[in-house]
Amino acid sequence: MGELIKISNLSKSFADTKVLQSLDMRVNSGEVVAIIGPSGSGKSTLVRCIAGLEPVSGDEILLDGEAVVNTASTHGKVGMVFQNFNLFPHFTVGENIIKPLKTVLKMKVDIATEKAKTLLDKVHILDKFDQYPNSLSGGQKQRLAIARALAMEPEIIIFDEPTSSLDPKLAHEVFETISDLAKEGQTMLIVTHQINAIRRFATRVVFLNKGKIEVEGTPDYIFNQADNQILQQFLKQVD
Ligand code: ADP
Ligand code: MG
Repeated sequence: MGELIKISNLSKSFADTKVLQSLDMRVNSGEVVAIIGPSGSGKSTLVRCIAGLEPVSGDEILLDGEAVVNTASTHGKVGMVFQNFNLFPHFTVGENIIKPLKTVLKMKVDIATEKAKTLLDKVHILDKFDQYPNSLSGGQKQRLAIARALAMEPEIIIFDEPTSSLDPKLAHEVFETISDLAKEGQTMLIVTHQINAIRRFATRVVFLNKGKIEVEGTPDYIFNQADNQILQQFLKQVD
């Protein structure tokens, strides 16, 4: 299991607000790292920096040993799944996967179609192939977003609060899909408030507070053992 992400001394400010403060973090291939922490603690900023969506200087984040400075440096290596799905509403479910395979990976249409079908089957929405995203439930939309991210065969998939706009039953479906990917060894970073969902499959939990890693460890350590006041306070408020 090689080192996939190496973050060294990452700092990030917006105007006068320091959002990330000299943060260090490593992620090995095959790890499933949950990132938890209070609202405003910098979780989204951290994952956006890793995905190349925020400008950072070249020596702060290495992905596969190469500097992340923008989305070109993470292209094809990082897949992002957001809270609000970010689907193409004017494409069918199938086309949401086929079009990027054709335009980005220059795949032939019949091969792209086969691949789309395999992925939609994997996330249990193959029967929706010809429908439009607006006819899907929120859980199905998010599973389509996951299938679309998987289509690019990224080295890591980053989820930023993938279930916060879903009711508990639909959130559960999405976490089942994420759990299946974890079993397959897919490297993932998951920002979430849903502690109970991730404790089953996260290999590590990182608790972010005020732009710093306050404490990190296995789910058992973070949820049952860590003797940290700020973490305890936070855990009382979620789930
Ligand atoms: P979290 O995801 O943990 O809730 P964020 O990373 O979204 O936290 O935000 C951390 C802090 O950075 C917040 O104070 C937020 O207001 C600020 N922030 C985030 N993005 C921007 C931006 N583009 N411009 C200005 N401030 C921002
Ligand atoms: Mg956020």
